Amino acid sequence: MKVASNYIKNVVDTLKTTFVGMKITGKYLLQKPITVQYPDERLPIPNRYRGIHYLEQEKCINCLACARACPIDCIEMDAVRHGKELEWITFTLDYQKCMFCELCVYPCPKDCIHMGTEYAFVSYDRSEFNHDLLSYKGMAREAKVRMIEADKKKQAKAEAKAAKAAAEAASAAADEGAATAGTADEDAPEDDTAPE
Ligand code: SF4
Ligand code: SF4
Repeated sequence: MKVASNYIKNVVDTLKTTFVGMKITGKYLLQKPITVQYPDERLPIPNRYRGIHYLEQEKCINCLACARACPIDCIEMDAVRHGKELEWITFTLDYQKCMFCELCVYPCPKDCIHMGTEYAFVSYDRSEFNHDLLSYKGMAREAKVRMIEADKKKQAKAEAKAAKAAAEAASAAADEGAATAGTADEDAPEDDTAPE
């Protein structure tokens, strides 16, 4: 008798739990799916999201304020100044160390380093996480070429000016030498001992 009652109880429990499960399934079956088909689809990113940095290279003055503010020394940069222009060599941020704290952003006097909304950053090569912010913006090469060309032109102009000045100095020196020789001939005494 006990065996039969257990059997009936198991059947009832099974039907009951199946009904509860199907009720939940039915509820979600009629709702719009919320699955996002990443990477083809992405959820909207909030404006204040702290993702991969981006740099407005044209505005940056290589003041190192961001690098100094970073508590774990993630940022390294190097640039050569040509008058008013900077020739950028490197501006890297090491995402193996970065903790996305945003402390590097606030001290920037030119408001040119920002936390972006990009977050997908995967690689099999750890060295790629030392991220080049110059090439990330895609501006480094063009800016570099422009600055090198400007520098070459400037150098050629300076060389031409120096050569012209040297030529003028040499010509002035030659004229002065000729004038001195002429004066010396006029001032020279006549030779009375010459045979008649
Ligand atoms: S977000 Fe923080 S840890 Fe990352 S580079 Fe900026 S200051 Fe350094
Ligand atoms: S603080 Fe701003 S201006 Fe100064 S080096 Fe960093 S990004 Fe450039």
